[in-house]
Amino acid sequence: MKIAILSRNAKLYSTRRLVEAAEQQGHEVKVVDVLRCYMNIAANNPMVYYKGEALEGFDAVIPRIGASVTFYGAAVLRQFEMMGVYPVNESVAITRSRDKLRSIQLLSRKGIGLPITGFANKPDDVKSVIKLVGGAPLVVKLLEGTQGIGVVLAETDKAAESVIEGFMGLKANILVQEFIKEAGGADIRCFVIGDKVVAAMKRQGAPGEFRSNLHRGGSASLVRITPEERSTAVRAAHIMGLNVAGVDILRSNHGSVVMEVNSSPGLEGIEAATEKDVAGMIIKFIAAHASHGKTRTRGK
Ligand code: ADP
Ligand code: GLU
Repeated sequence: MKIAILSRNAKLYSTRRLVEAAEQQGHEVKVVDVLRCYMNIAANNPMVYYKGEALEGFDAVIPRIGASVTFYGAAVLRQFEMMGVYPVNESVAITRSRDKLRSIQLLSRKGIGLPITGFANKPDDVKSVIKLVGGAPLVVKLLEGTQGIGVVLAETDKAAESVIEGFMGLKANILVQEFIKEAGGADIRCFVIGDKVVAAMKRQGAPGEFRSNLHRGGSASLVRITPEERSTAVRAAHIMGLNVAGVDILRSNHGSVVMEVNSSPGLEGIEAATEKDVAGMIIKFIAAHASHGKTRTRGK
C-alpha cells in the first residue's frame, strides 16, 4: 500500500512511529504537511498538489491534524476523500469531534454517560446554569481549549459566576460541568482502533492539579478498565464516526463518564505506558480495511 500521513512535522513522535510501523509492514509512506498542500476543487478530477508535485496513487491517508489546523486540514483530507483515498478517520468525524459541545450532544443522545454539563450564551443566565449543573465546585471549559488550557475549576458559586462572566466578556464559548472530585485528578485514556480498546492508561495530574493532561505535568501508568468502560469507549468512538480515537473517561460516583473523544490521539504516552505497538496496530487496521472509494462521506 501507499500511505500518506497528514502531519505538520515528520519529527513528531506519533508521526515517526507511524512511518516506522508502515515501513516495517512493507508499505510505502509519505509525510505530507497539510499547510503546504494546494488543490483544484472545481475540476472534475480532484487533485492534491504538494511542493509542485501531484499526490497520486495513494491507497490510504492517516490524518494527524492538530487543533490549530482543523479548518485547512479537514479541507485537504476532504480532497483525498473526493479522490477515493481511504481515510483512517473521515473529515466529518474529525470536525465533529473538535466541537466539544456538538460531541457532548451527540454522545448524550445515544445514552453515553457524561458529566452533567450546561452551557449558556448570556450573563443573565449564568446563575441558572450554575444551578443546573448542581452548583460549585464546578469546571468551566473554553470550547476551543486543548491540552488542559482553558479548563478552570471554580470552588464556589461566586468564583464560578465571575469566571463564566469573564469568559463571556471575552466572547469565548464555554461549557459548565459538574466537577468530578472523586476522579482524584486522574482520567483514563482508552485508545480505540476499530471495535476494540487496544490500550488504556491512567493519567494522574501533578500534585495539587485536577487536570491530568500530560502537557500539564501529569504522569501515565497502566490501568485495567472494566468491560463497561471498554464498550463505552468503543461506542463513543463509533458515535463520533472515528475508527481511531482516544476516549477520555472519568470515574465518577455515578459511573464512568466520557469527557472527550480525541480524533488524533498521541502515541507517545500510551506506547510508553503500555509498551504496546499502537502504531503497528493502526497500520494493520488500515491494511485490513482500506479500499478505493470506501469513504462514506465523499467529502460531504
Ligand atoms: P482538554 O481538551 O483541554 O484536555 P479536558 O476537558 O480534557 O480539556 O480537561 C482537561 C483535564 O481536566 C482532564 O484531563 C481532567 O483530568 C480534568 N477535568 C476535565 N473536566 C473535568 C470534570 N468535569 N471533573 C473533573 N476533572 C475534570
Ligand atoms: N493531544 C494529546 C492526546 O490526545 C493530548 C494529551 C494530553 O495533553 O494529555 O493524547
